[in-house]
Amino acid sequence: MKNQTVGPCTRLTQSRKREPADRSSGFTLIEIMIVVAIIAMLAALAIPSFVEARECSRKVGCTQNLHVIDNATQRWSLEAHKQSGETVTLDDIRVYFKQVPVCPSGGTSFSDSYQITTVDVDPTCLRVTSGRYAHKM
Ligand SMILES: [Zn+2]
Repeated sequence: MKNQTVGPCTRLTQSRKREPADRSSGFTLIEIMIVVAIIAMLAALAIPSFVEARECSRKVGCTQNLHVIDNATQRWSLEAHKQSGETVTLDDIRVYFKQVPVCPSGGTSFSDSYQITTVDVDPTCLRVTSGRYAHKM
């Protein structure tokens, strides 16, 4: 009886043999669909919270800008000895800003973000004037 030697070529040919598909491993289509449905439900819960947080932060930022504008107006009126009904413009109060404020909700300049009229009237935001997240002082 001859001994058969098992060399590297023998192993290679053995491993190339096709085996029947193993159906016990991996995920089924139903399992994958359940996971996708759970992810979709979590996203549906989280996305409205992200939108709300973004709008809240924009509102807070704009309210702070309105206070900065009002403070600048009051400082200007005190230093220039202006009365309460006198008209104020951006050029009057520009020196009190480190950076001229714009509304965080898409404002590109002071004139399309805020309106200032007289010393005794609060400045108003022109971008978001109504709704749940209205920008007010
Ligand atoms: Zn605003």
